[in-house]
Amino acid sequence: MKKTKIMCHMGSGCSDKATLRKMIENGMDVARFDLGKLPYEFCSQTIDTIRELESEMDCTVGLFFDLRGPEIRLGTLDNGKVNLEKGEEFHITPESMIGSNQRFTLGYEDLLEDVKIGMRILFSKGTVSAKVIGKLDGDLILEVEKGGYIFSHDTVHIPALHYSSNYLSEKDKEDIRFAIHEDVDFLGLSFVRNSSDILDVTDLLIEEGNDHIQLISKIETKDAYEDLERIISLSDGIMVARGDLGLEFPLEELPGIQKQILKLTRSYNKLGIVSTDLLSSMINSQVPMRSEVFDCYQAVVDGADAVALGVEVSQGIHPVTVISTCQKILEKAEEENAYFFVPQSSKEKVDVATSISKHAIAVAKELNGKMIVISTKTGYTAKRISYLRPTCPSLALSPSSDTVRSLTLHYGIYSRLVHEQNSTDEIINNAIAEAKKWMKMKKNDRFVIVGGFPMEVGMTNFMRIEEVK
Ligand code: PGA
Ligand code: MN
Repeated sequence: MKKTKIMCHMGSGCSDKATLRKMIENGMDVARFDLGKLPYEFCSQTIDTIRELESEMDCTVGLFFDLRGPEIRLGTLDNGKVNLEKGEEFHITPESMIGSNQRFTLGYEDLLEDVKIGMRILFSKGTVSAKVIGKLDGDLILEVEKGGYIFSHDTVHIPALHYSSNYLSEKDKEDIRFAIHEDVDFLGLSFVRNSSDILDVTDLLIEEGNDHIQLISKIETKDAYEDLERIISLSDGIMVARGDLGLEFPLEELPGIQKQILKLTRSYNKLGIVSTDLLSSMINSQVPMRSEVFDCYQAVVDGADAVALGVEVSQGIHPVTVISTCQKILEKAEEENAYFFVPQSSKEKVDVATSISKHAIAVAKELNGKMIVISTKTGYTAKRISYLRPTCPSLALSPSSDTVRSLTLHYGIYSRLVHEQNSTDEIINNAIAEAKKWMKMKKNDRFVIVGGFPMEVGMTNFMRIEEVK
């Protein structure tokens, strides 16, 4: 049973029920919807299908929405694309117009104030670039450095730009309300710049009465990287968003940055997700490139809770094969790198739940336990156990469906909804029944149960070892 979670971008090529069923069977834990690109109707329909599959297959699939964030996009271009020639000059305007290779629009209100002379603008994922050489009558004047085609409505990247606009646009606010309406579990904060951006989202969620959506800050700007520690402390998790981050930093720096971000994220006991290009050559192939196998494997070694697959699933011709390939690599990496992880610089205090978690993992390892069963109301103890990276999988049992869903991205934790438990005996009997149901256990197999009664946050206070008779 793999422990690293797999999140997949949704797209029209993988949203039919039969494909989604196979994707779940082959290891998809969380479905991801990019609200910058997908219409609400598609999201709602796909979510309905996933909810049907959850009850048919008796499983839980987390839901993750990406906000668009302060993203900059090209306006409409004549015939959908124009060619920029190296050495040529052109103008950019915030005014709306049909663009040509002489002058076109960027959808960014504070363009003239925020973009400085000398900055670079990157188009077509960084393959085309131009330098700002002047400003004239409300336009920016640029000179092409690397020529090539640019396309209508494509995202544009301006490295080291300090946006002066508010983090949440009206569209983002509407998207957050839609996320609440669809009762999603995670919000991906795209192009987050600093810790106060996170507070803007938190404020809106409180205003709207939502208390359980988890915030995943996507690290994809230089500003965010510079405010990393505070961003981590205010978020539920972090995504190493290597696609856009690779336009902000020299590419050779990305592996080191990934390790550093994940290490710091783990020291705060927050979720770490590695995203983009893990298996992207599989968009039109049944087998990955060898270097991609190493990349998936390395995400586990670096301490990721989850990996996020993108176009290889949402636009690929073999979405299920991509997921099953990923699952096999993750399982192997977990098997070959099994270690009892004792964090060096945990920022968190050691309380009773944490101490019991550590010892439950040690006991499970020493007795070759097949599973740790965690009785948890809020997921607190389950998150501690995930953080300490047990060698066996864990099953979290909670009477709260928000808790069950909130654990879908956590390393090694599978979660199930149970009814309210009214005594320690009931917790134990229920844990035994669920453990036997979810793990194919043989005679003499051992498993560990942790829990507490009454089931409240931080009330974990017992550990028990069971053996299959
Ligand atoms: P995206 O985020 O796929 O939403 O752009 C991830 C990244 O930039 O790598
Ligand atoms: Mn991105």
